[in-house]
Amino acid sequence: MLELRSVSRRFGSRPDLAARIAIALGAAKPPPVVHALDKVSLSIEKGEVLGLVGESGCGKSTLGRIAAGILPPSDGQVLWKGEDRSGLHGKRLRDADLQAQMIFQNPMAALNPRMTVEGLVSEAPKIHGMMAGDKGTYVDDYLRKAGFDPAMKRRLPHQFSGGQRARVNIARALAVQPDFLVCDESVAALDVSIQAQILNLFMDLRAQLDLTYLFVSHDLGVVEHISDRVAIMYLGRIVEEAPVAEVFARPNHPYTQQLLAEVPRIRPGKRRFAAMKGELPSPLAPPPGCHFHPRCPFAHDRCRHEVPERREIAPGHSSACHLNDQQAA
Ligand code: SF4
Repeated sequence: MLELRSVSRRFGSRPDLAARIAIALGAAKPPPVVHALDKVSLSIEKGEVLGLVGESGCGKSTLGRIAAGILPPSDGQVLWKGEDRSGLHGKRLRDADLQAQMIFQNPMAALNPRMTVEGLVSEAPKIHGMMAGDKGTYVDDYLRKAGFDPAMKRRLPHQFSGGQRARVNIARALAVQPDFLVCDESVAALDVSIQAQILNLFMDLRAQLDLTYLFVSHDLGVVEHISDRVAIMYLGRIVEEAPVAEVFARPNHPYTQQLLAEVPRIRPGKRRFAAMKGELPSPLAPPPGCHFHPRCPFAHDRCRHEVPERREIAPGHSSACHLNDQQAA
């Protein structure tokens, strides 16, 4: 469905002509650049759910936006159904844009407060000529699929709870008949009981509509319930990727191990791994070598200057840590 090949994304302001001359003459410093993604390679198969996990600010939302086609990469290639996305034009680009939809974290901010639910759900399909029959029936159908009562479709977003607004967002995304959904922290703002309902809804929709998901979350516990595979991200790099059961049974990367130590558990007892220490460093000046070395209990000299390669350590399980080279040697 989707493949990212060595995708990087940087954000920074472009200096004007005078500033560029001053920088060239050494009289001014170049503007700071945020390194949001650094050579990320990842693929998502049709029908699968890939969970993307990391702390806030690690670049996972940027990756989600690139996967949904909202943001272009600075470098690297995005292949959508086998074709380079940057080479798509006209109808093929429009189709790719409609087939990949994003569901955002804050359902209220993502909905126009002046439009009724009916207007919100029907807007995009109307523009793209997708509503051949009765508009009301089309909207009702997608609201029902998202578990929202169509009898309330003439109301405004502020008249609903967070859970109902999340359902409107889902109905709006489904109404353009996508086959790939990027869910960016889509349940993070909801109460735990509502989170469970929305996660179950995502799973039902996957089966009904043959959907593929990229599920972005800071919470490994949430991702565990919905994903087939998990990719762990740290400061713009994927540090580990494996089937979900493998990540929980045999986490390899020290960062994954520390994330797991923070997943709440019902049974008390000694934890397998130590909890996370320190803060995520600034993506304006990521640490050299392995980005994780300032927080890693196993960091050694090599980690401070050499970037670890991500390589397969078991079938379908890859990790980027120098400790794997020592064990293999
Ligand atoms: Fe820790 Fe070094 Fe492995 Fe990075 S490469 S996770 S610093 S041991």
